[in-house]
Amino acid sequence: MPKKVSLNVKCPHCHESLMDDTHLINNKKGIRCIIKIPGGKKGNIWLSSIYGDHNYSCEFEIPEGEIGTFYCPHCGQDLKRKKLDCDHCGAPLVSLGCSIGGRVNFCSRSGCKNHYVVFDNVDTAIRKFYSEYGYGN
Ligand SMILES: [Zn+2]
Ligand SMILES: [Zn+2]
Repeated sequence: MPKKVSLNVKCPHCHESLMDDTHLINNKKGIRCIIKIPGGKKGNIWLSSIYGDHNYSCEFEIPEGEIGTFYCPHCGQDLKRKKLDCDHCGAPLVSLGCSIGGRVNFCSRSGCKNHYVVFDNVDTAIRKFYSEYGYGN
């Protein structure tokens, strides 16, 4: 069974860390973003930083199937990845920078389980990934 890998992510625009050590999810730092849902509700959301884990907590209830817009809590920029949609449900993907290079993408639709890592430079990133986290040992 693969080890649980905790990712360290940052805003792709201002490069500030999105890790929040005051808000843990599954005992790991949460990834904090600002989410806005149709109807105008806006607040903090914390996603699990464990790769492959779909848990999150939010200041308000997100109705199942609703598509949220995610913003950086530091610079306020939209975190949506342009021209890349979820291959499960077609909703826009949200894209965050990863400390070891590459990107962490996840679906902006509540209830969709699409959450995966895409590396910009596969070779280097994978090697770093393995050495930094001892993944696969
Ligand atoms: Zn930012
Ligand atoms: Zn989706």
